[in-house]
Amino acid sequence: MKGRVIKSTGSWYVVKTDEGIKNARLRGKFKQNDLKLTNPIAVGDWVTLENEGDQESTVIADILPRENYIIRKSTRKAHHSHIIASNIDQAFLIITLRNPRTSLGFIDRFLVSTESFRIPASIIVNKMDLEYKDKDLDFLQDIHEIYEPLGYPVIEISALDQNSFEKQFSKLLEGKTTLLSGHSGVGKSTLLNRLVPSAQQTTKEISKFSSKGVHTTTFAELFELPTGGYLIDTPGIKEFGILDIDDFELSHYFVEMRQYLGQCKYNNCKHLNEPGCMVLQKLEEGYIHPYRYDSYVNILHEEDDHR
Ligand code: GDP
Ligand code: ZN
Repeated sequence: MKGRVIKSTGSWYVVKTDEGIKNARLRGKFKQNDLKLTNPIAVGDWVTLENEGDQESTVIADILPRENYIIRKSTRKAHHSHIIASNIDQAFLIITLRNPRTSLGFIDRFLVSTESFRIPASIIVNKMDLEYKDKDLDFLQDIHEIYEPLGYPVIEISALDQNSFEKQFSKLLEGKTTLLSGHSGVGKSTLLNRLVPSAQQTTKEISKFSSKGVHTTTFAELFELPTGGYLIDTPGIKEFGILDIDDFELSHYFVEMRQYLGQCKYNNCKHLNEPGCMVLQKLEEGYIHPYRYDSYVNILHEEDDHR
């Protein structure tokens, strides 16, 4: 029997199958896959289930290949990465223009993450029912101008306006597995609660103790939408990791730079001040937005600080 893991407690799993919801444990001899992970199974995984011994006991016998997954890398122990969720169709970054204003730098960090995880991303501008000053609207204009040409849809919504909510937002979720992310205060809980009333307060952080000390592990949950599809909301998702992306890899996750990367004079070019750098030339010629290039440089330097 095949099913999808929709919830994990760390020791057992809730699996949705055609025959209903099953609670399953890992088979004793479950083979750890090639990744060095603290959790071999994550929400979003497609698995095969078998009955073991008596008919009451369901076990996860196998895991189907993941299309993609988001991972949190432990900063201390490189070998203790934690999969947050897998098989995600799209990632939505919820932002607001004011109270709080989401910075372009934050948006770019998010997009670097989703690119590295190979998840299509959209930017959802919430609270558009409010009145804004010119400088906020200029910011909105910038967001449209920077991200839409790169292939990231920018969608304006209001969680409080029924019509906008349904026409602009909830229809995008039908039949898809969507990751919601964003700063606190942008309206994530409001959106989630409108979509899945039962989701209220179910996302909690669970602490786990091990013999080596205290680990704080976060378990995500897939919330089933009444219209079909799932939402993933995980506490602390905004930290999900672009740590560990090395300097030469980073520019691959800026979609507008990617196409020029083979054309720099030096193949270890960081696109900072190297002679014969095609990225710098395209920046000069206006093919790369200066704000995006600034984000690139900032992320590069922040990553250096983490070492
Ligand atoms: P979260 O921290 O991202 O989960 O944000 P919340 O859902 O708690 O929302 C923060 C505040 O913004 C709450 O007071 C919400 O009522 C309000 N809010 C959420 N969405 C909207 C919206 O579309 N328009 C307006 N005006 N307020 C909103
Ligand atoms: Zn270069």
